[in-house]
Amino acid sequence: MSTPPLASTAGGTTLGQLLHTVLRALREGTHARGGPLPKGGPQAVTARVRAAVGEVLPRQGDPDALHTLVHAFAAGAADPADPLCTAHLHCPPLAVATAADLAASALNPSLDSWDQAPAASALETLVTRALADELHAGDALVTTGGTESNQLALLLARETRHAPEPLQLVCGANAHHSLRRAAWLLGLPEPVVVPTPDGILTPAALDAALTPLPRPVLVTATAGTTDAGLIDPLPDLADLCAARGARLHVDAAYGGGLLLSDHHRHRLHGLDRAHTVTLDLHKLGWQPAAAGLLAVRDSADLAVLAHHTDYLNATDDTAAGLPDLLGRSLRTTRRPDILKIAVTLKTLGREGLGALIDQVCALAAEFAALVDTHPGFELYAPPTISTVLFRPTGATDAAVADIRRQLLHDGRAVLGRAAPDGRLWLKATLLNPHTRPGDLAALLKLVEGNTPT
Ligand SMILES: *Cc1c(COP(=O)(O)O)cnc(C)c1O
Repeated sequence: MSTPPLASTAGGTTLGQLLHTVLRALREGTHARGGPLPKGGPQAVTARVRAAVGEVLPRQGDPDALHTLVHAFAAGAADPADPLCTAHLHCPPLAVATAADLAASALNPSLDSWDQAPAASALETLVTRALADELHAGDALVTTGGTESNQLALLLARETRHAPEPLQLVCGANAHHSLRRAAWLLGLPEPVVVPTPDGILTPAALDAALTPLPRPVLVTATAGTTDAGLIDPLPDLADLCAARGARLHVDAAYGGGLLLSDHHRHRLHGLDRAHTVTLDLHKLGWQPAAAGLLAVRDSADLAVLAHHTDYLNATDDTAAGLPDLLGRSLRTTRRPDILKIAVTLKTLGREGLGALIDQVCALAAEFAALVDTHPGFELYAPPTISTVLFRPTGATDAAVADIRRQLLHDGRAVLGRAAPDGRLWLKATLLNPHTRPGDLAALLKLVEGNTPT
């Protein structure tokens, strides 16, 4: 076998031919699937993948492996571009972002040192500054998503606290699970979890929780809860944190995208008062994963991430003007996720991105109206962002769970689940701007058809 061609230096031809194969396999695999999810459940999917792959590491290579595996990958995918795939904050990526991501793979810059990423690091500086400005923050770091952003937010709070006692995390019961995990990872005391019976963290409940706490405190609020898309009352919480000397982190992994819309931006009023903000552009930003950000109000807080190793940022190199990138992340090798983000921002512009946000919020309102006017369904609440919780009227929790699993098994619709009030609801997270009203009606009909009578 001759040495296989490289993505970049072999010129476009070989990569171009391989891309044709990839695109064909994607088309054929998607067609073979014939719905949002492969049919038959985990066992059937596993059997088909095993059969397609055969030997994982054969002695002799197989030139058809690209087609075979991409076909199996697509045939067995949960496809967020299918309008009936609406379970999670799992967005269909924009073609232009995906194309840009190919260039990132082909050139393979790594953002741990300037000599591996000259233009990539300059682009990252430019774009993160612009995004930080959007958020009225001092700086922003690129992360792998909300989980890493939340971890970093806790780390910065721990390292910049003004008292020797351990940092106490205080969050709502509505907060993302990654915050509790981050507290565990960072060796912080068990978080104080404030009850959120209405799905949002109220100032009164937070006030009661803060009163007995003498220690340095980090409060986290949520702008766009994962279960219901609810937004905590940010200005009131920021006032309270300021009065109590508590640091504030806002997890806007989901809701942060609303900043891009002139119609919906006002819902994030108060976001600029947070010390740190989590934002995920692989949710309301239509990026292929990963595209996370952590905005930091006071860029001096980032000093604690400074780290030195001679082969990446020797002091004399830095003194001679080579940018020091190691303090921009806890990772070492780091993909240039900024490229697809930069390309998307410039290709679509504010108007283009705002229109996508407005479109999915409008879809959620339409779906909620369909549910609300249907005698067989109950609506949890009018949607705040693009999440709609609903359940068949009078169904037991077990029946609701069964409906979801039956639809998954049949590969006909992908719905999520949430129990914000202790009862189980079906969750539709509408992130596909190509979804049409007819798709929403079809989704409801499918649920109706699988509801036991
Ligand atoms: C999705 C989500 C996260 C986690 O983000 P990942 O990108 O999956 O790591 C954190 N917080 C909220 C509110 C989220 O919705």
